[in-house]
Amino acid sequence: MLKMNQLNKVYRTHMIETHALRGFDIHVKEGEFVAVTGPSGSGKTTFLNIAGLLEDFTGGDYFLDGVNVRGMDDSARSRLRNEKLGFIFQGFNLIPDLNLFDNVDVPLRYRGFDSAERKRRIEEALGRVGLASRQKHYPAELSGGQQQRVAIARALAGSPKLLLADEPTGNLDSQMARGVMELLEEINSQGTTILMVTHDAELAARAQRNVHIIDGQVTDLMRETNISLAAVAAHIPTNA
Ligand code: ADP
Ligand code: MG
Repeated sequence: MLKMNQLNKVYRTHMIETHALRGFDIHVKEGEFVAVTGPSGSGKTTFLNIAGLLEDFTGGDYFLDGVNVRGMDDSARSRLRNEKLGFIFQGFNLIPDLNLFDNVDVPLRYRGFDSAERKRRIEEALGRVGLASRQKHYPAELSGGQQQRVAIARALAGSPKLLLADEPTGNLDSQMARGVMELLEEINSQGTTILMVTHDAELAARAQRNVHIIDGQVTDLMRETNISLAAVAAHIPTNA
């Protein structure tokens, strides 16, 4: 589904060069649920933004669903993004002046679906996240957990193959976070590949696989393994 080989990303500002990703290798197979962890500033968001075709990279190769992304022009990039990807952000990023129906409609308007098809997709997506009866409500009328469900519906309405989530539970209390995690697990079990950045060790441990990033690189310990952080932790003596 997603393969990066020796990917580099350098930010140049004023006199400073930041190597946000260096020699970054990852391979995510179709159907996987991968949690991405790592300290603040390690490159998690940079990785997700490049994976999501929101940002370009400086060197290396990136294949998304078999398509080589390197050197692709902006319009081809946008088309690929709209067709294959869905995004969920920590801050939900809903538009306050639009009701839930219209919020979910926003990305669909770029896809060239007619209004009947959009309506069908919006109703189905809001149904999948348990908010079918709230179509006419506005984001401010919902709890944080419900707002994140709307953002998930908005991502799902385009039938993405890959869902990218950057700290999707970062603004939620632990009970709401678990609810959102359960929803993501259900979506994954129905076939959508998920890449989720999280600080929450409990949620990361529930994913099928953990990728740990330090200093812009996938750490060797976790590279291409199927063990979760919790499984690793279980083998570290507590009195060490
Ligand atoms: P994380 O999400 O793991 O906290 P980021 O991917 O946001 O880390 O950042 C990785 C590194 O790249 C940090 O040193 C950060 O300061 C730097 N960085 C991120 N975005 C930019 C940018 N737009 N311009 C310059 N530096 C950036
Ligand atoms: Mg980040």
